[in-house]
Amino acid sequence: MTVRPILSIGHPTLREDAADIPVDEIGSDKVQQLIDDLIDTMRDANGAGIAANQIGVARRVAVMEVGDNPRYPYKPRIPLTVAINPRIEVLDDETVEINEGCLSVPLRGNVLRAVNINVVYLDREGVEHVEAKRGLTAGTWQHECDHLDGVLFVDKVLDPTTLTTWAEFEAHHRDAFIERIAEFVQRVGS
Ligand code: ZN
Repeated sequence: MTVRPILSIGHPTLREDAADIPVDEIGSDKVQQLIDDLIDTMRDANGAGIAANQIGVARRVAVMEVGDNPRYPYKPRIPLTVAINPRIEVLDDETVEINEGCLSVPLRGNVLRAVNINVVYLDREGVEHVEAKRGLTAGTWQHECDHLDGVLFVDKVLDPTTLTTWAEFEAHHRDAFIERIAEFVQRVGS
């Protein structure tokens, strides 16, 4: 198990446009070790996802997982997913305002995300997946894919007054957000 240090906003690698991983390199020890390190680091930090840029590697791979996390009681589960060279297609104009956090940013803030997307990616065996994602799960995919383009959620915060520390979010905003987003999750089913 290797938990790697997570880079913080300001580190140049977080702003790099990550390079695709050639299909014939996916089975290599180097790429498989990178994937294992991403999973270990995400789980150690209790994150819902992490992209390779965040541990200093500008290659296009991210991992996501949401279980029964008391920190995110409103989040639908995401089984452990390894997404290599992921691409997102936004399907329509429906959006939702999500209060997001990030392992690389010590703040939370509201970001508008597409509700209905398709994703195309390779798993750690190099098998291609084409899947529809919806709701908060679609938001998580957009957040992680943004990292691979060198984009952080703070770039997309439309109203800077929604920015809070985690402590102030817990104290003043968490309950209202959970109430609003739980209704949304119930409506869209994910
Ligand atoms: Zn992030």
